[in-house]
Amino acid sequence: MHRQGRPGRGGGERGDQGLSPRPGAKAGAKPQRRPGPGRPQRPLARVEPRGPDGLPQVQLGWRGSERWARGHPWIYRGDVEEGRGALEELQGGEVVRVLDGRGWLSGQALYSRTSKIALRWLSGDDAPVDAAFFRARLQRADELRRRALPGEDTYRVVHAEADLLPGLVVDRYGDYLCAQFLVKGTDDRKELLADLLCEHFRPRGLVNRSDAGVRALEGLAPEKGVMRGELPPLVRYATGLVRMKADLLGGQKTGAFLDQRENQLVAAQYASGEALDCFSYTGGFALQLATRAEKVTAVEISEPAALQLKENAQENRLGNVEVVVANAFDYLRDAVDEGRRFDTISLDPPSFAKSKDAVPAALRGYKELNLRALQLLRPGGHLITASCTYHVGETMFEDMLESAASDAKRRVQIVERRGAGKDHPVLLHLRETRYLKCFVLRVL
Ligand code: SAH
Repeated sequence: MHRQGRPGRGGGERGDQGLSPRPGAKAGAKPQRRPGPGRPQRPLARVEPRGPDGLPQVQLGWRGSERWARGHPWIYRGDVEEGRGALEELQGGEVVRVLDGRGWLSGQALYSRTSKIALRWLSGDDAPVDAAFFRARLQRADELRRRALPGEDTYRVVHAEADLLPGLVVDRYGDYLCAQFLVKGTDDRKELLADLLCEHFRPRGLVNRSDAGVRALEGLAPEKGVMRGELPPLVRYATGLVRMKADLLGGQKTGAFLDQRENQLVAAQYASGEALDCFSYTGGFALQLATRAEKVTAVEISEPAALQLKENAQENRLGNVEVVVANAFDYLRDAVDEGRRFDTISLDPPSFAKSKDAVPAALRGYKELNLRALQLLRPGGHLITASCTYHVGETMFEDMLESAASDAKRRVQIVERRGAGKDHPVLLHLRETRYLKCFVLRVL
């Protein structure tokens, strides 16, 4: 990512910007970049609510300046020191110039009026945030996928903050794109972003799946529809040798859970004998297991997802898949009671905690699932177990697994510790972008 505070990269005035004192405080002068590290002093004068170019500007307090300088891309409302009044007059969604605690240019950010996160980092300079800016960001995001997943045509193109595009998620399924505009500033620019995505990928269709609950935090209503081109009822994509179909408008998320595709392929490596896949959706794991196992039972609570799973199994001529519409918690309990045994089990439940308060309950849920799965495995059997709950970190998840294994009286090896696929990069400075854990365990 951009290094902030590096002199000589300011888009406005280049050259001696490191030498002028506190230009942002002076009416009519554009703020300049901070010359380098050093403890900022408190501002001496008020920051003008708008720069000479009309751009709203705010000054961060200590904490915000420090966090931002370290690379964290979010600023909370309370961390805005000067110009909070000016922000109140904005609608939300605007690009705002941000000055650090001493008045040096820190960069530009998208303003959100309703979220606790007031500012989301866009750039460390003063260059205009225009079509060329977003085009370059999209190209940079796609470059990573071209390099990390050569030849792939199904992947996450943009992973929001982790690709320096706050609140923008774009998934590609071959000739079709599915986008989520999750913050006000990104939603306000969705037509521009749609144009740029079409210019870069020339898709047959571009879908807007902005019906995620998080939009409410931004004061945005859910919306979905075809934005550009046309869309067939189902879109085809493949994971390894397995052909899948996704409903981009009506399915969960953007139609499929692309973050698990690499883990699904890994799961196939460990599959053998009798396999059980819980929380199957349209068969991401179940069908991969079916390429190696003798028989797979797929348990999914949603009828439409289970129907699509059956169709996907038929399409691949995988006759060894049995689909059960049931609550996976009940299914696992009954299977233990009936003394059943499996050689491979995969668990990929939905998120169990939206906030920190819900973590204890989430851990109880995870433990119940994993304990039962471990009880059901034959010696030498494998468990592929995932958690997409951000608030349950990897250590917490691993501790829970240890406790489940002890209670199940099984000795267990960790074979692989995995995360989301390479098309879901983690921003080192924003651990929220690292949410998916996936362990491969073996029962000894
Ligand atoms: N494993 C899937 C993605 C799973 S998403 C893949 O790789 O594509 C979680 C799935 O769990 C959703 O399809 C949801 O409908 C289902 N689900 C949620 N609660 C459930 C429950 N109690 N029992 C079974 N399935 C459940």
